[in-house]
Parts: sequence; C-alpha cells; structure tokens
Amino acid sequence: MKVNGFTVAVDGPAASGKGTISKAVARHFGFAHLDTGLLYRAVGAKVLDGALPEAAARALVPSDLEDDRLRLPEVAQAASRVAAMPEVRALLVDFQRSFAARAGGAVLDGRDIGTVICPDAQVKMFVIARADVRARRRFAELQGKGVDTTFEAVLADVEARDARDMGRADAPLRPARDAVQIDTTEMAIDAAVAAAVALIDAKLAAQG
Ligand code: C5P
Repeated sequence: MKVNGFTVAVDGPAASGKGTISKAVARHFGFAHLDTGLLYRAVGAKVLDGALPEAAARALVPSDLEDDRLRLPEVAQAASRVAAMPEVRALLVDFQRSFAARAGGAVLDGRDIGTVICPDAQVKMFVIARADVRARRRFAELQGKGVDTTFEAVLADVEARDARDMGRADAPLRPARDAVQIDTTEMAIDAAVAAAVALIDAKLAAQG
C-alpha cells in the first residue's frame, strides 16, 4: 500500500469530535497526527504572556505544544484571535505542509487543512455537531481537568470562536468542496471513527 505522502485532512469547529477521530484513525493506520490547533494555541499563550503575535509564531518550538495550559478557554480565545492574522497563519504553513508530506502517512486536524494547507489531501473530512452538544462535551472535558467554569461560559466560548473562525477573511472555517461531512451530533464516537476508517480504507484500496 502506498502511504508515503498520504494525507488525511480533518476540519471542523471546536469540540466537533475532529481531534478524537483524528487520533483514532492515526492509531488505526499507523499515521502521524498533528493537532494544528495547538500551533495557534501556543502562539496565543505566548501573546497572553506579552509577546507580539508574529514574533511568537516565528519563535515557536515543538516543546511549546506540550504545555498543559494550552487547553484553557482563555488560551483558546487568544488562539482564535491570532489565527485571524494572515501574517501568523503564513508563518505556520511550512511546518504543517512538511508534516503532511512525511513518510508513512499523516492526519492533520484543524480549520483550513482541506482548503488551504493540504488542498490535495487524499481524504478530506468535515466534522460538525450542534453548538450546544459541542459545548456540553467541552464542559465535561474541562470539568474532568478541574477547570472552574460553567456550561454557559463554555457555550459562549464555542459560539464566539465559531463566529470568528467562520467570519475571518483569511482561511475561514468551511468545508473543502470535496470533503465528506460527518455529523457527530447524535453519533457515538465509535461510529464516527468507523465512518472515517471506511473512507480511508476505500481510498487506500483505490490507490492500490
Ligand atoms: O482546534 P482548536 O480548538 O484547538 O483551535 C484553536 C483555535 O485555533 C481555533 O479556534 C482557530 O481559531 C485556530 N485554528 C485555525 N486553523 C487551524 C487550527 C486552529 O485557525 N488549522
């Protein structure tokens, strides 16, 4: 099977399930996985610490992606603000494209993978779910991590980021023309992963 340069692009709004699906398919196929949201979160965190957005993007190193703080709601908001800046996005393109081209296959999840970063990805998925369902999932996750917040605050965060991510001029959140939509509103995670695995299996079989 030809998996060198095989790229799976998984896009969608916050807490749609795209990260869980991406991790599971990467494990299933032995592909490398990059959560591209972490790049923007790491830049956002540096900006909260006083750095300028472009300088923060330029200074990014892999260990910056391992900071536990990156999951916090205020960092998510800062990420979505720096993600609307074309200069910041441009500085992160090469790293993502090199990752996508690595031997052995790669899964990248984010907002613009199928549209901008990897328009030639072999498989593209767009994962969606109703905002209140996504907020409930994120609230449970944050509670599990001991973060002090409310469902209403998490819903407001999700809706604010949706609006900013869909409304920005550069690389807005939208499905690629050839993306397959997976709606996880009423779907168990196992079923969503199975649907994603089936899509990739079909593409790999067609490639021979
Ligand atoms: O996916 P995650 O919620 O971690 O992303 C945080 C923020 O980073 C998003 O709200 C979005 O503004 C930005 N982002 C982006 N493009 C990507 C991934 C994330 O603009 N490919």
